[in-house]
Amino acid sequence: MRRTAMALVAVPVILSGPVPHAGAAGVGDTYYPDYGNGGYDVSHYDIRLRYQPATDELSGATTILARATEDLTSFDLDFVLDVQSVLVGDRPAGFARQGDHELVVTPARPLRRGEPMTVRVTYADTPSTRLGEGFTVWARTPDGAVAMGEPESAWWWFPSNDHPSDKALFDVAVAVPDGVEVISPYPFEAQGGLVTPPDAPPTALENQTRPTYGARYFQRGANPYVVVHENSHQWFGDAVSLRRWQDIWLNEGFAMYAEWLWSEHVGDGTAQEMFDSLYSAFGEDDELWTVPPGDPGVPVITPEVYLRGAMTVHQLRVAVGDAAFFRILRSWVAEHRYGNADTAQFIALAERISGRDLGALFQAWLYAPVKPVLDTPVAAPARTPRSLLPVLSAAGLQP
Ligand SMILES: [Zn+2]
Repeated sequence: MRRTAMALVAVPVILSGPVPHAGAAGVGDTYYPDYGNGGYDVSHYDIRLRYQPATDELSGATTILARATEDLTSFDLDFVLDVQSVLVGDRPAGFARQGDHELVVTPARPLRRGEPMTVRVTYADTPSTRLGEGFTVWARTPDGAVAMGEPESAWWWFPSNDHPSDKALFDVAVAVPDGVEVISPYPFEAQGGLVTPPDAPPTALENQTRPTYGARYFQRGANPYVVVHENSHQWFGDAVSLRRWQDIWLNEGFAMYAEWLWSEHVGDGTAQEMFDSLYSAFGEDDELWTVPPGDPGVPVITPEVYLRGAMTVHQLRVAVGDAAFFRILRSWVAEHRYGNADTAQFIALAERISGRDLGALFQAWLYAPVKPVLDTPVAAPARTPRSLLPVLSAAGLQP
């Protein structure tokens, strides 16, 4: 019998950390691959600017406190304005533009994973003239400017890791000429609202503690629905934020449903009547059913996300009953306040609290590109809830 000798060959192993590399140009959002950035986590923005409404000149510096989460030779910031200088720590860093909203920063020496980093970007530009993705959210008005947008708006006034998944604290100081006022979001303890001038985008947006409302929302007088909508976002969207843009229904479906709850509360029509009106008004062939709110595609702000999103919330309420439903909503905010969350976590919470398997319900309402079939058929209600009339007429449907 022969024995085979096997030689063990010693292979020299060099133990060292991973090779420093360029941070990713995006945070990993499948819908918006180059939004946000990889390789670091921001804790604080200190934004100190000067603005001249007459010339639309915005200048100053933003100092970012962050921590490297990888060994980095360079990293990106999201920003469209013209940059004058970048410091990392107290040393000048290289910087170059890539595409229209990526600023690639190369520090004098690589950053180690876990290392705190201070990045100071000095800049001056006219934001209304700078395009990112083909547009600007910076609208000039006769006496100033308004910047608002979703999912983009930071690019036009401060460099950032622009994605809801990287939350940070802010200090903002803007110097303006006498007679001009600066209004920006405040901490959650404060609350207010701002009707934008006619030259600003005519939309409403849930800016933290200071939602903005296009003047057209109040053309016919008081409009509590838009106020309810934007203020409900203070919990659903702002306090609890998306981890990825695909889950936008967690913001808009819930804010729309808050409108339905308001309607129920003031006697304008119950949430069930809202649901029944929509379900019977939009036939099987309607486009509403081809866009699943749990995976709407880009752009994410579409009517389907709002309407079918709210219908999804209502179906959950019907399935689990009011007691469990409102417990789910309160727990959702309590468990994720000031953090980020996704649809899978919401479904898990709803199943935990209700003790029900809700997989089929959410599959049908969030992800199937067809009109969901109801166990109990509904008919158009005797009256169409008042706040739905504009929605139906916008869709070319008369109740
Ligand atoms: Zn909304």
